[in-house]
Amino acid sequence: ASHFAGVSLDPNDLKAQQKALDLVLQDFDVSAERMGAIVDQFNSEMRKGLAAPKATVAMIPSFVTGKPTGEETGRYLALDLGGTNLRVCEFSLLGQGEYKVHQQKYVISDELKTGDMRNLCDFIADCVDNFVTENGSDSLESNLQLGFTFSFPVLQTEINRGTLIQWTKGFNCTNAVGKDVVVLLQDAFLRKNVNVHIAALVNDTVGTLMAHAYKYPETSMGVILGTGTNAAYYEKLNSIKKWEGGAVAFDDMVVNMEWGAFDNERRVLPLTIYDNKLDRESINPRQQIFEKMISGMYLGEIARNALLQLVDRLLLFKGVSSPELNKQWCFETAYMSAISSDTSEDLEETQHILEAVMQIPSTSLMDREMVKQVCIAVGRRAARLSACGIAAVISQQGSIGQDTLVAIDGSVYEFYPNFENDMTQGLTDLFGEKDGSCVRFALARDGSGLGAAIIAMMSHKAAKLKAG
Ligand code: BGC
Ligand code: MG
Repeated sequence: ASHFAGVSLDPNDLKAQQKALDLVLQDFDVSAERMGAIVDQFNSEMRKGLAAPKATVAMIPSFVTGKPTGEETGRYLALDLGGTNLRVCEFSLLGQGEYKVHQQKYVISDELKTGDMRNLCDFIADCVDNFVTENGSDSLESNLQLGFTFSFPVLQTEINRGTLIQWTKGFNCTNAVGKDVVVLLQDAFLRKNVNVHIAALVNDTVGTLMAHAYKYPETSMGVILGTGTNAAYYEKLNSIKKWEGGAVAFDDMVVNMEWGAFDNERRVLPLTIYDNKLDRESINPRQQIFEKMISGMYLGEIARNALLQLVDRLLLFKGVSSPELNKQWCFETAYMSAISSDTSEDLEETQHILEAVMQIPSTSLMDREMVKQVCIAVGRRAARLSACGIAAVISQQGSIGQDTLVAIDGSVYEFYPNFENDMTQGLTDLFGEKDGSCVRFALARDGSGLGAAIIAMMSHKAAKLKAG
């Protein structure tokens, strides 16, 4: 045996492998007790955010009040920036929750994501131009109205105005933070002679909530569990202590929480060395700590860190890695989804990903089983932490034990095996069987675009009324 703690010199030592695996799995476990502490901390951060103009959990008033009536009709454009692709859509709202949509996706290069904001806006303007020309939208209406879903922390100053607080999810354009993103994009439209008016600036969580409420008015919360994570919900206007926007016709306003920044101070989240390494090596260290434990951009990297640590202790793949596995961000969350759901006897899919995709020279069945267990544990932790956020909102709304409908979009929720079950289990652990089962989740696929179109419509109508 070795004199280095935790290092096995016998590569076939199954017991040592099992022991090391158990410890890693323990690291990713979130007990019911810890979840309770997280929810308490969440609630106190939420109250802070509702009162203070600047807080870790920003709790941004969205200027969206009231629910869609289902009567909303008309043709509106929507633009969705902040996930994997840029999407341009044209919605025909037909009322009663019905609609038709045409859409087109455009790939945003890494160069655009980290270059000058002006270039990104010019690119978006070109995409919109291309879309309205191909789609014939421009010949139908002279002044097209657009809802702009911009899924980053924005301090909203009007329904169609807001300044970028910071970038997240790998975007890092220069000359954008502190600027009004609507003005920047509207200027690009002008430069390029694109005759489109930005009528609303919308966070994807707010869009998802409104889209689902268009058909199911009882929806009280919108959550994104995708590339990034965040939530929006209806809050009582008189609980939004920092609101200075004057009187509004409704009692409630949608608040964009920006929960990805929860516990940046690291008071209560069960961070592991794998999380801390990811954070240290990210382009936004010490920010979006909650998001980094949950969302699709990061889960693969957490798992990669955990696997490499086992490799370095000679407890996985006989201590042999590959250039692919050694590379930051190269173990994708989509691989984890596939591995977590691999039920074949020899774990063939897992073997394929590890040996053919990640180029590990050889893997034993025990190796593959270990990788699978790590992937499941990282996913389950993400689901239980998501449940904490949702529970905190329900508790803030005073509706524990009442029927709650949560609209959710995002690849992690949609594709990660068992994610929904693990969230439900988390809510049960927190609220008990009976109250936990009052919470229903509904997939609102690509809802943010529809939501943005609805909000653009509401805002356009309000502006027309005002203008007489
Ligand atoms: C952003 C949020 C967004 C979420 C989901 C986060 O990184 O800060 O504004 O809602 O990702 O897209
Ligand atoms: Mg999206």
